[in-house]
Amino acid sequence: MPHSTRLPRTGLLRHAAALALAGGMVLAAGPAPAQDGPAGPQAGGAAVAIAAETATRDGTTRLTLTLSKAIEARAFVMERPDRAVIDLPEVNFQLDQETGKMSGRKRDGAIASFRYGLFAPGRSRIVVDLTGPALVETIETTKTREGAVLVSIPFRKVDRDTFRKASVAGDPSPAASAKTAPKAASMGEAADTRPLIVIDAGHGGTDPGAIAATGVFEKDIVFGFAQSFAERLEQSGRYRLVMTRDRDVFVPLAERVRIAREAKADLFVSIHADSISAAPQVKGATIYTGSEKATDSESARLAERENRADAAAGTESGEGPADVADILQELTLRETRGFSSGFAGRLMGQLGPVMEMSTKPHREAGFKVLRSPDVPSVLIELGYLSSKSDLEKLQSEEWRARVTGSMAKAVDLFFSGRATLSRPAPTGARSAEGDTGSAERATSGKRAGVLRPEGAVHDFAPKRSAAIAPVSP
Ligand SMILES: [Zn+2]
Repeated sequence: MPHSTRLPRTGLLRHAAALALAGGMVLAAGPAPAQDGPAGPQAGGAAVAIAAETATRDGTTRLTLTLSKAIEARAFVMERPDRAVIDLPEVNFQLDQETGKMSGRKRDGAIASFRYGLFAPGRSRIVVDLTGPALVETIETTKTREGAVLVSIPFRKVDRDTFRKASVAGDPSPAASAKTAPKAASMGEAADTRPLIVIDAGHGGTDPGAIAATGVFEKDIVFGFAQSFAERLEQSGRYRLVMTRDRDVFVPLAERVRIAREAKADLFVSIHADSISAAPQVKGATIYTGSEKATDSESARLAERENRADAAAGTESGEGPADVADILQELTLRETRGFSSGFAGRLMGQLGPVMEMSTKPHREAGFKVLRSPDVPSVLIELGYLSSKSDLEKLQSEEWRARVTGSMAKAVDLFFSGRATLSRPAPTGARSAEGDTGSAERATSGKRAGVLRPEGAVHDFAPKRSAAIAPVSP
């Protein structure tokens, strides 16, 4: 029995009227259909979505969007949790706030719920939580007599194996792209599907980081460690490695995040070593994951110190929190942080037995480098330069070999436990906008739809406390 999450199916006329209001379109009384061309003060702006409905018939569940104009849509799927991502050019979502929640109702076929919003400048996204493995079939676009555009996204359930393959490929099938969506960009990248890991050696160049009483710099210790960790991973042949710095050079914090995001990294590991000169007895390693709320004031102060790296190096990034400007991106970040915590748990399990951990070995704090919305990210403080015993270990080859070996094991466990997070090729999404590009962006401003966090949040991620059992030294 098909059901609608919002308007009755006979409501298309009302849709058209709403579109006229929302998009500033002029609805002609005669047969002239509304075109994509200039038709009002805002016609050059983003497409306006005024309804999103789901219905299931003959084993196919459709998510149908009612839009002010045609757009390119591109779909891919991801596993754990099972979901589909529909990438769109910027869409101004003017939907009923209940849309997509589907709470308190029977789930509709393949779709459990969905959420939507601006993903990046000029790009919107719909994330569909699936009830189980399902693929997106050919996306269809039709025009109503009133000039509205219906984009119908069909989902068909498949077996786990098929779904997994599609999620690893990231670009499930040619059918999943709208008819003219370019495919070339993702084809070239498909050559090497091994997970990509970004190793971030903290500080560098004009920023020494912490300084030991002996005059040893944090930047040098962590660089040596990061290099040997990267080599270790590379030797396995299972991963692609990228380092945020390959020598003693200053790299702004935002740039480190950008490197990971642009490489579409599957994991980001930042290496640091702390120092508390006032408490030389404090020692051991701590694993940090990102959070706006620090676990404790100590962690908050540490994050603040590390976040001052740019200023310490004589530059001022002037950037806000890593361009997380949109609530949907905030949601992606939250989801990603679930993966980050999962990896932190693996690290704890492997490192606990081979090295000394601090009294509270997993903590959270607002490190700037842990703010990639879409890259699971962890920062490890290897120990304290202010502790004599830690400093000795940090400079020992033997200790380093043991610890990087255990960290590599944690990485193996992390990636064997789930399919690689596959991402869409941003270049494809960009060129899908193609001809309507810059002029649109210039005029559309901040009109994009905003998701209500209390409504559409499907909180699949954080399992922190469950996944991470404290390890006592
Ligand atoms: Zn540091």
